[in-house]
Amino acid sequence: MRACIFFDIDNTLFPTAEFAELARRNAIRAMIETGLDASEKEIYAELKKLIREKGSNYSNHFDILLRRMGVARPARYVAAAVAAYHNTKSSIQPYPEVPQTLMELKKRGYRLYVATNGDAVKQWDKLIRMGIHLLFEDVFVSGEMGEEKGASFFRRVLAHVKANPSECIMVGDRMDSDIIPAKKLGIYTVRIMQGPYSKQKGKADAKIRKFSELLGVARRL
Ligand SMILES: [Mg+2]
Repeated sequence: MRACIFFDIDNTLFPTAEFAELARRNAIRAMIETGLDASEKEIYAELKKLIREKGSNYSNHFDILLRRMGVARPARYVAAAVAAYHNTKSSIQPYPEVPQTLMELKKRGYRLYVATNGDAVKQWDKLIRMGIHLLFEDVFVSGEMGEEKGASFFRRVLAHVKANPSECIMVGDRMDSDIIPAKKLGIYTVRIMQGPYSKQKGKADAKIRKFSELLGVARRL
């Protein structure tokens, strides 16, 4: 019997790619609404360029964006964009089947954990806003662990939860960070085929398209 299940957050529990897109759109519209003289398309193209250069987690995006667009007094637009971004954040939801599936797994006696890359506060913020944080025994985030998800990360997580790899399942969307390192240690891996990384090549022990299919996979083990 597999007793522990580890979950990735982004594009596994939470539709990260869709959220980011929506939050950016809302921020751009808020800047236009506040009086910024540019089209949505134009601002979006500039923002995309900036994200490619600086990464998607960069927090001064709007400031730099406006300066690049030659806006002399950008404060009001930055404020509008940031407020819209945060308002979008306040309404985040997990994928619709996630809460019920997690509760059912708990009822069946599984110990649930989060194992994710990212900044620990930001990842906790998502779990709390989604209202699912209390379902997990513990949450392991690379930012707090001091290393990205790899074989060594998973070895330390197993030591923390006092479980053998043969007792554990890892659920995630990415081959490189979720599946390959966990599989290497002998953890049973389940890949969820959603989000931008679903095109990555590679094979997990099991593949699911909907989160609730996990119930059937877990039952077979
Ligand atoms: Mg992910």
